[in-house]
Amino acid sequence: MCGELRAEDAGQDVVLMGWVNRRRDHGGLIFLDLRDRSGIAQIVVDEKIAAAHAKADTARPEYVVAVKGTVRHRATGLENPNMPTGDIEVVASELLLLNDAKTPPFSPAEDAIANEEVRLKYRYLDLRRTEMQANFALRSKVAMAIRNFLVGEGFLEIETPFMTRSTPEGARDYLVPSRIHAGSFYALPQSPQIFKQILMVSGFDRYFQIARCFRDEDLRADRQPEFTQIDLEISFPQMDTIFRVTEGFLTAAFAAAGIALTPPFVRMTYDEAIRNYGIDKPDMRLPAMVSLTDELTPELREKLKIEQSLPVLGFVIPDAGEISTTARKSLLSEIRGSFGDCGLDILDVQRLKTNEAFAHLANNIEDLLSKELRRFSGDAEVVDTGHLIIVVTPKLGTPAMWNYDPQWIYKRVGALRLELGAKFADKHGCFAKTGTAADFKFVWVTDFPMYEWNEESKTWDAAHHPFTSPHEDDILAGRLTSDKGAVRALAYDIVLNGNELGSGSIRIHRKDVQAEIFRSLGMTDEEAHERFGFFLDALEYGTPPHGGIALGLDRIVMILAGAANLREVIAFPKTAKAIDLMVDAPTPVSDLQLRDLHLRVAKRS
Ligand code: ASP
Repeated sequence: MCGELRAEDAGQDVVLMGWVNRRRDHGGLIFLDLRDRSGIAQIVVDEKIAAAHAKADTARPEYVVAVKGTVRHRATGLENPNMPTGDIEVVASELLLLNDAKTPPFSPAEDAIANEEVRLKYRYLDLRRTEMQANFALRSKVAMAIRNFLVGEGFLEIETPFMTRSTPEGARDYLVPSRIHAGSFYALPQSPQIFKQILMVSGFDRYFQIARCFRDEDLRADRQPEFTQIDLEISFPQMDTIFRVTEGFLTAAFAAAGIALTPPFVRMTYDEAIRNYGIDKPDMRLPAMVSLTDELTPELREKLKIEQSLPVLGFVIPDAGEISTTARKSLLSEIRGSFGDCGLDILDVQRLKTNEAFAHLANNIEDLLSKELRRFSGDAEVVDTGHLIIVVTPKLGTPAMWNYDPQWIYKRVGALRLELGAKFADKHGCFAKTGTAADFKFVWVTDFPMYEWNEESKTWDAAHHPFTSPHEDDILAGRLTSDKGAVRALAYDIVLNGNELGSGSIRIHRKDVQAEIFRSLGMTDEEAHERFGFFLDALEYGTPPHGGIALGLDRIVMILAGAANLREVIAFPKTAKAIDLMVDAPTPVSDLQLRDLHLRVAKRS
């Protein structure tokens, strides 16, 4: 291959085939940079080989070429240290033009092409670029490492259907109209959820699939209407079994990209995540929030006009650099401004220090935050290089909104921690890439709430999906009916650097519990039967306890490739408007096709 040739290959005869990356005409000598998927080699065509020279003369970028020749050292001083093959060149003895090419709208030889629409329209040219070739080589390697690991752990890879019926991940379905059954539709699966659970009923014990999922959601930058999950399910599991298997395949996937992870990963409950990070997907690359609630005694609160009995939270942005008094004040008032009138305020700890009545409080706050900073740095000596201290207090006279959601203040302060973390990223360097395992902070978040209050529809929705098992204690205590907000689920997320990589749960395996959960979600028995009757039936035929998880493969590869967008690691992705610009889909179809499918298109008035 072009990219594999090295100095020690000098003297070898080779046959290379690929695309003309660049062509330089030096009169008697024509240089062709020949590119295949392994890289680029320089071909020299001498006018003494007249037939080859004549063909090289007409060759243009992206022509497809075959070369026979001999590898030789480049002349001293003409080596190119920036190219892996820069020590050698191939002297052509024979050249074939296998195909010509129109002048492309952009050159695959370029590193960065600004216009993404053009890249997507001419995706076949875009994919020729070295960077894209590397992304897909990595994707293939990562997927294979995961497969090998799981097969080694006794998993069977089993395919589940694309044409099925609505599954309960909660997004909108893509529908496929049936020609044979007028007015009926298949749904594309949002995940293999029900099928993998049924495979457990069928006794397969350990299933996995690198599965395509389809969700008709409003797209954000990091979503695609079809995406790939590493999906698995295990019978008779402890949660630990699922954590161990997931950590195992992630370690294998990262090893395929040259990164050595060291499981087990940190674990915390949902409540701990909210209390310490103000979010259910904590970014552990920054120190946690610290509760200062007890430091603010009733007397101090009265003097400082802070609401009694509500939490006071602080955090440190490490190494934010020296900040002048004016800069600090303007930063703090900027933050106050961003709070609007939600009732939060900022305590200026520097200023407290200058007031005798509050100096003791200020020192206590600094001590507690330094303690967290030491924990964060693995008990290393912490040198003060301008750590930015932020303390958020609830003002006297709290707005009513807090009463509705006791976690509100934690979430707001958690968001501020992330905003300031991003703002000072250049200073603290906690997000900088070192190319080692230190760049990747994994955490398991467990014990999610079972239900989520839907303010719009005034109903309780399943926070994960309705097959997730509630905690046994919460079932026994009757909370499914009496106190839904307090029911914990046996559900867990795997989080990396503040992004959810995947989620899963221990499932319900008893029909009575499953029926009870459907009821508690506001579904009548008839509705439940209509949607999931086949599944409720299956549960009655000896269903083993089971559980599983699914992780987004696209996102994992994106992170490992250091890409900024999922589209960089999906060969034929859709745009943010769900369009495939290359094939131009979706499109209207012919009246005949519509008629076959018993459909008529009505314009919405
Ligand atoms: N099917 C679930 C999802 O896609 C994952 C799982 O519970 O295994 O979120």
